[in-house]
Amino acid sequence: MYKGYMEDKKRINFIEEIIENDLTNNKNEGRVHTRFPPEPNGYLHIGHAKSICLNFTLAQKYSGKCNLRFDDTNPSKEEQEYVNSIQKDVKWLGFDWDDRLFFASDYFDRLYEFAVELIKKDKAYVCGLTAEQIKEYRGTLTEPGRMSPYRNRSTEENLVLFERMRNGEFRDGECVLRAKIDMSSSNMNMRDPVIYRIAHQSHHRTKDKWCIYPMYDFTHGLCDALEGITHSICTLEFENHRPLYNWFLEQLDVPCHPQQIEFGRLNLSYTVLSKRKLQQLVSEKIVDGWNDPLMPTISGLRRRGYTPESIRNFCERIGVAKFFSIVDLALLEYFIREDLNKRAKRVMAVLDPLKLVIENYPEDKEEEFDADNNPEDRSAGTRKIKFSKVLYIEREDFMENAPKKYFRLSPGREVRLKHAYYVTCTGAVKDAEGTIVEVRCTYDPASRGGGTDDGRKVKSTLHWVSEKHMIKADVRLYEPLFKDRDPSSSKDKNDLHKLINKDAVKTVDAYLEPSLKDAQVSDRFQFLRKGYFCLDKTSTPDKLVFNRTVTLKDSYQP
Ligand code: ATP
Ligand code: MG
Repeated sequence: MYKGYMEDKKRINFIEEIIENDLTNNKNEGRVHTRFPPEPNGYLHIGHAKSICLNFTLAQKYSGKCNLRFDDTNPSKEEQEYVNSIQKDVKWLGFDWDDRLFFASDYFDRLYEFAVELIKKDKAYVCGLTAEQIKEYRGTLTEPGRMSPYRNRSTEENLVLFERMRNGEFRDGECVLRAKIDMSSSNMNMRDPVIYRIAHQSHHRTKDKWCIYPMYDFTHGLCDALEGITHSICTLEFENHRPLYNWFLEQLDVPCHPQQIEFGRLNLSYTVLSKRKLQQLVSEKIVDGWNDPLMPTISGLRRRGYTPESIRNFCERIGVAKFFSIVDLALLEYFIREDLNKRAKRVMAVLDPLKLVIENYPEDKEEEFDADNNPEDRSAGTRKIKFSKVLYIEREDFMENAPKKYFRLSPGREVRLKHAYYVTCTGAVKDAEGTIVEVRCTYDPASRGGGTDDGRKVKSTLHWVSEKHMIKADVRLYEPLFKDRDPSSSKDKNDLHKLINKDAVKTVDAYLEPSLKDAQVSDRFQFLRKGYFCLDKTSTPDKLVFNRTVTLKDSYQP
C-alpha cells in the first residue's frame, strides 16, 4: 500500500484523490490497477501520451500495476502494424507493462459466455431490426424509444438464435444481440444497446474463428473486470456510458467491479488529434506517413527530435481535469526546448548562407579554436573548429543600409565571430541583378578567441562556417501543420485540404560545421542562434538531413 501520500496531499489531482480515498477505505484490498486500452486502428498521438502517462504513473505512484490492453473488437480497421507501433511507442515513452499485455480478442470466448449468461437472465435478446430501424426505434433526447418487436422472444429462442449468429447462419446486419434495459431511459445509451454484431471478417488475431464481434461498451468493462482493474480511466465522452458500464458488471458474475473515472482529453492548438483525421492525412498523402515529423503522433514527434522526458514533463504539467480545454502548442514546445537546452550539443550551422571574405587573412592559413559543446553542461567538453579566410554567415546577419538599432554586420560595424575573431565590415559585392553575393571584412588578430584586452565591446556575435571545411545538408524547417488555432471548430473542419498549412515544411540547403558528419540518426543539436535540430533517418553519408525540432525562442512562459 502506498505510504507517502499524506506528504503531497496538497498537489494531488481529482483522480488521485479518488484513489487515495479508496486506499484509506481499503477498497479493492488496497490494490491500484489501471490499464491503457488503445484500439489498434492507428498510431498513438500526443493525446494518447497523456492517457499513458496518467495510467502508468498512477500505478507507479501507488505501488500498483498498469496493463496494456488492445481493444481489438473491430476487425475491419485493425492491423498488426498498429499493434507493433503502439507497443514501441509506449516503451519509448518509458513505461513497462511487464507481462501484462492483453487483447480484448483474448476474451472473445468468455465474452460470448457472458452474453449467453445475459440471455439466460432475460437481459438480452436477438433483434431482427435493421440498423436504420434500431436507430429510429431508439427515439431522441426528448422522446422515449419504442420497444423492438423482437424484445419478448423467449430465452430458448434467443439462445438458439445467438448460437446460429455465431455459427455464421446469418448475413452481416441481419440481426444483432441487444441488452434488454430500458427503452425510455433518459440516457440513450441505456435504450437496449447492441452488444454483438455480425461481421464476416477475418480478425488480425482470431482470424476466421468468429463472425460475431462484441461491441465496445460491452467488452470494455468486462475486460476491466476480468483483469482485476480497480480504476478504469477514460475520457469525458464516456461519461454517459458509465451507467451502461456499471449495468453489465451488475448483471453478470464478474470477479470485481472497477470504477470508471473520466477526464478531459488533450486538445492541442494548431493540431488535430482525431485518429480518423490523422488516418486521412496519411491515406491522402497530405503527410509522408504516420511518422512524418509534421504529425502529432508519438512516432512523428520522436522523428522530429522530441525526447520521452519532454513529453512526460508536458503531460505532468498539463495535469488532468474534468472539463474541455485546448492546450497551447507553445507549451509542448517549451518542454522540449527546456530539455534540449540541458542535453543538446551546440554546433554552428548556417541555414541561409552568405559568403564572408576576410581581406587581411592569409589565403592558405587555417586555425583551430576550442568551442564549448554546451555552456549549460561543462561535462559535455569542447571540440575544435576550423577557421579560414572564406566563411559563410547567415544572410540576415548582414544589412547594407542598416538602421541604428541593427547591431549585426553592415559597412563600418564590428561584430564577433563566435569562438574566433572580431571582424569589421568593409563592404559588399553584388551580382548583375543587384543581389549581395559576398560580404567583405577585416579581422583584428588581437581578438583571437573572440575577445580583446582593451575593453572594447561588440554588440553581437555571429555564427559562421568555414567554406573549406564545411559540409552541406538539407535542413527541414517546420511550422504547425494547421492554420487554425482550433481546426476542429473551423468552418472548414470537414475539408482537411483547406485546413492545412501548405508551407508547413520548408527545406533549405544549409552549410554545417564538419563535426556534424559523425552525427547519428536521432542525435539532437542546438544550431547556435537557430534552434534545436535532429538528424533524420533519411540521411545518407553523402547527404545529411536535419529536422528542426523547435526554434530557440518563444515568448511563452508556463
Ligand atoms: P479517436 O477518438 O481519435 O479514434 P480514441 O480515443 O478512440 O481516439 P483509443 O485508441 O480508443 O483512441 O484510445 C486509447 C486511450 O487513449 C483511451 O483511453 C482514450 O480515452 C485515450 N485518449 C485518446 N485520445 C486522447 C486524448 N486526446 N487525450 C487524452 N486521452 C486520449
Ligand atoms: Mg476509443
